[in-house]
Amino acid sequence: MNKIKEIVKVLKKSKSVALFTHISPDSDALGSTFGLSLALKKLGKKVQIFIKEEFTEGQKILFEEDEANRGECNVNDFDLFICLDASAIERLGDYAYCFNDENNTLVLDHHVCNNYIAKYNYIESESSSCCEIVYKVITALKIKIDSDIATKLYAGLSTDTSSFINSNTNSNSFLVASKLCLAGAKIQIVNQAIYQSKSLKSVVFKKHLLNNFQIKGECAYIGVDLKTLQELNGVKNDCSGFSKMLANYKEINYSFSLIEQEPGSFSLSMRSKIGFNIRIIAEKLGGGGHICAAGATIKAKNIDEAINLVLSTITENKEEMKNATI
Ligand code: AMP
Ligand code: MN
Ligand code: MN
Repeated sequence: MNKIKEIVKVLKKSKSVALFTHISPDSDALGSTFGLSLALKKLGKKVQIFIKEEFTEGQKILFEEDEANRGECNVNDFDLFICLDASAIERLGDYAYCFNDENNTLVLDHHVCNNYIAKYNYIESESSSCCEIVYKVITALKIKIDSDIATKLYAGLSTDTSSFINSNTNSNSFLVASKLCLAGAKIQIVNQAIYQSKSLKSVVFKKHLLNNFQIKGECAYIGVDLKTLQELNGVKNDCSGFSKMLANYKEINYSFSLIEQEPGSFSLSMRSKIGFNIRIIAEKLGGGGHICAAGATIKAKNIDEAINLVLSTITENKEEMKNATI
């Protein structure tokens, strides 16, 4: 792990920078990427963001989707490749090829399971969000945080802490949030974009989730196959939001949603209360994440097989899940 001083040096030396984040980007992924991009442009760097996926309606309000490049990244055009909020190379999807030993690479991340994939790595698992780390980097670079940067970073801080209630919320999250507010973060615009911008059309899918979720002991879960997902215009984000909501009930200690994104490929989203480390389960299934919010991509014949795989992994690793503190 590098020191922040070394990271500053690497950033200052670079002239043209390519920025990447994880697939299915959440607002921490976008906030840290767009926030850093704006800051580096202030230093006169040439910066390009590479993200293939379409933003959600709310994200489109906060982040300029047309500034994200969807095409190939010509590695010869850049002297620094930065990856934000992603714990492993596979999480970069189609852009993973940019992160090899030949390129000058840097990772800024807050996942405890990050396996130091770059030449330079700055990983702080105590940080609630990657945006908190980017705030630290921008401050160390002595770049003035304007209202636009502050708004983008606040969006990541707000989402990764679920509005400052997740177990990763600590004094530094509030401190950085306060500094961002003082720098002009438009918190009401963030709140509206993230929490109040869903279309009523999504209610049909939400009703399906509410009518069909299951409970097994202290675990609540829902599985959605591709056909149902398409018929009801469901999206992955709604499923993650739903597993989060299920873990809020007092009888439930952990929850998960599974959706079939491509035939035979299921996206798992897990949430838990403090004292239940579901990252352990996600890792056993080839994924990762945080203590109380984790995920994986699972291959299975059908949704029932995928659900049974998650349930049996939980049963087999229950003790470890309850004992693990990080
Ligand atoms: P989500 O439920 O999709 O919001 O994901 C929660 C957290 O789990 C993310 O912030 C990631 O850290 C992690 N995560 C989700 N999917 C994967 C995956 N396929 N592989 C590794 N980590 C994942
Ligand atoms: Mn993320
Ligand atoms: Mn994050």
